Amino acid sequence: MQTSSLSARDLDVIWHPYTQMQTAPAPIGIVRGEGALLFDENNNSYIDATSSWWVNIHGHAHPHIAQQLAAQALQLEHCIFAGYTHPPAVHLAERLLPLLPANQRRVFYSDNGSTAIEVALKMAIQYWDNKGTPKHKILAFHNAYHGDTFGAMSVSGRSVFTRVFDDRLFDVQFIEVPTAENISQIINNIIALQPEDIAAFVFEPLLQGSGGMVMYDAAAFEQLLQFCAAKNILLIADEVMTGFGRTGKNFAMEYLQTPPDIVCLSKGLTGGTMALGVTTSTAAIYEAFLSTDKLKTLFHGHSFTANPLACTAALASLDLFTDPACAANRERIHEKHAAFLKELFTYTVIKNPRLLGTILAFEIVTANADGYTNALADELHRFFRAKRVMLRPLGNTLYILPPYCITNEQLEEVYNSIRELVATLS
Ligand SMILES: *Cc1c(COP(=O)(O)O)cnc(C)c1O
Repeated sequence: MQTSSLSARDLDVIWHPYTQMQTAPAPIGIVRGEGALLFDENNNSYIDATSSWWVNIHGHAHPHIAQQLAAQALQLEHCIFAGYTHPPAVHLAERLLPLLPANQRRVFYSDNGSTAIEVALKMAIQYWDNKGTPKHKILAFHNAYHGDTFGAMSVSGRSVFTRVFDDRLFDVQFIEVPTAENISQIINNIIALQPEDIAAFVFEPLLQGSGGMVMYDAAAFEQLLQFCAAKNILLIADEVMTGFGRTGKNFAMEYLQTPPDIVCLSKGLTGGTMALGVTTSTAAIYEAFLSTDKLKTLFHGHSFTANPLACTAALASLDLFTDPACAANRERIHEKHAAFLKELFTYTVIKNPRLLGTILAFEIVTANADGYTNALADELHRFFRAKRVMLRPLGNTLYILPPYCITNEQLEEVYNSIRELVATLS
């Protein structure tokens, strides 16, 4: 029998993501989850106020998802996805497409959000190549985050995340996030880039997540999308974090008129249970790959493409997501957040409080510059850990992004922990 704690054993063998292993506090060993709570090895509970890196939407160890998964594991756990298919993959595509913008017709499976972006970029670049009009430029937002693989890093804003690799990333044309004031300037900048040579524009619609929960203007963004669509620039909507109800609507693109050509999904797709990525495309994009010429094939795939267990978790999550109770919960959280938002405006140690759907975000005022490397982050993380509330700041940006099943009492506890923080800072 092991006698030392999980966290002590971890320190001997594990290398954690985004973690400075020399200075980080020992990780908390989590052994069980239920609803919005996670339990450590001493049975202390923690409120998962950021949905375990934004993936969990229905709560932890949800019985419906767990039961469906167990049944599928006894039926078919995995099978090669070239030349073969299986019920969960087909059924999931059939159920997913009607939820997406009406022009989306094909589902390509991969493993996570980053791979969904890689696939989208390859689809867009090869689309133009297959049509005999190769295009050389890609457009993206400054401060964007699209993942950690090299292609996804390339279309992400240059930052501390990419710094060491910057000279190995492919060239991307970065534009500012649009506002009513800068939109004409942005469009002029794109015109100067020769839009006929731009293959695609990749964006996180209305909310830049890892970039600091930056919420931006739908009207100006709509103008930008319309301009790009008119110039035949393929629109890649990265809904990896905004998808599945986070922003209030099922998908953030529902706030906009111009439909995307390609949509990327992951995070909430399986309810946060399994790793799965999806890239969907229009019929026009799909058809550009149809040919007797094998060179026009989309040469991309992963060993676990369309893993039946992951697809089953996604189907079970969709059962819960499409139940009206889920939308009602999201509305309830939004209203609770809206009331707390008003209170946040009264605190002088807080700036720029903002709300979109179930996401409430704000900055803590500090002497240092805002941003991911703000020294306050570690301190804040420790503060909330001690309160048994899982809030992991992005620099000095704090945000609440809970599973939709979080109770009003649990939300109140999260708000209280923030009130306590404000009191210590004031
Ligand atoms: C998290 C995220 C990704 C990357 O997804 P992973 O599954 O972590 O690779 C891509 N885009 C956005 C908008 C994300 O928030």
